[in-house]
Amino acid sequence: MKEYSIAAIPGDGIGIEVIGAGLEVLRVLEECDGGFTLDVENFLWGSDYYRQHGRMMPEDGLDQIRDKDAIFFGSAGDPDVPDYISLWGLRLAICQPFDQYANVRPSRLLPGIVSPLRGVTATDLDWVIVRENSEGEYAGSGGRVHQNLPEEVGMDVAVFTRAGVERVQRFALELARSRPRKHLTLVTKSNAQRHGMVMWDDVFELIRADYPDVATDKMLVDAMTTRMVLDPKSIDTVVATNLHADVLSDLAAALSGSMGIAPTANLNPPGTYPSMFEPIHGSAFDIMGKGIANPIGAFWSASMMLDHLGEPKAASRLMMAIERVTGAGEVRPADLGGNATTREVTDAVCAAIRGAND
Ligand code: ATP
Repeated sequence: MKEYSIAAIPGDGIGIEVIGAGLEVLRVLEECDGGFTLDVENFLWGSDYYRQHGRMMPEDGLDQIRDKDAIFFGSAGDPDVPDYISLWGLRLAICQPFDQYANVRPSRLLPGIVSPLRGVTATDLDWVIVRENSEGEYAGSGGRVHQNLPEEVGMDVAVFTRAGVERVQRFALELARSRPRKHLTLVTKSNAQRHGMVMWDDVFELIRADYPDVATDKMLVDAMTTRMVLDPKSIDTVVATNLHADVLSDLAAALSGSMGIAPTANLNPPGTYPSMFEPIHGSAFDIMGKGIANPIGAFWSASMMLDHLGEPKAASRLMMAIERVTGAGEVRPADLGGNATTREVTDAVCAAIRGAND
């Protein structure tokens, strides 16, 4: 029997609710599969921890989770804690030192879910966005000079390294190669940002020759937003910078039904450090504690985690269960136009997993 060690970090807001639901679903999969066990350790880090200790996670937090096989993360964010503290103090404080440079964000129109785009069907919208996750606009480089004086200057410097660009582009080319359509779009803004973004173009031009079986094209990020809305069918795999892909993937999630269903994997491809899996949505304090958060983004993220751990059978069993529930349409959470609670969606997915055994 294989045993995997998982760090669960529910974080804040609805992250706590959906990670709790995700762990329940994982337990049912473990039980039905019979071939693996998950040794889950909970880490109650986040904004409450910050209120008590003045930091989002303990000083030796990374050492506590370094040897885990994977991290299952909820969200970080609280109305009383500045966003830059909650983001830099927890999510980025894990992603960056663990060199999780490839952020993979699939978007698919699941059965029974209607896109806000008129007439778009499941075959028209099946994308994976690869976000550079270790540098770029999130490198943390910059500063403020003359603070609070009229002449104050604020600078955020995007840092692109050739090595960082090449490794994420190669990752995206490999991923595109593994998909049926074998198509990759490089997104930049190299008309206006004429240094780092032009380097992205140059590196891409060089390395794409190593993947002759992958068809490629290039788009400016502004044009990409219109293409996603007007011609979704033309898109397959996408690679973009940390900031551009963050924005595009929120749009992708909305176009595929709701922020509540979209998953993400923060991968450290060499496996030197654990990779981290999380729904893309935030802590959504407007619905926190009401028991109505859609847990599907967390379930889909759990499926990506199982795949990464080497349990593809359990991963696809979970996806099939999710699709059975969305397809049947009887248990539909509020963000998808229904009135099912987190509990009801979780129970329905657990029953569908068990049902696959019958
Ligand atoms: P961030 O941490 O990115 O600032 P946020 O807490 O502002 O995030 P988002 O994740 O951007 O929230 O989501 C925006 C809104 O979408 C939420 O306020 C909530 O109403 C809705 N939403 C997001 N995720 C879910 C979900 N899982 N279930 C139901 N509604 C959701």
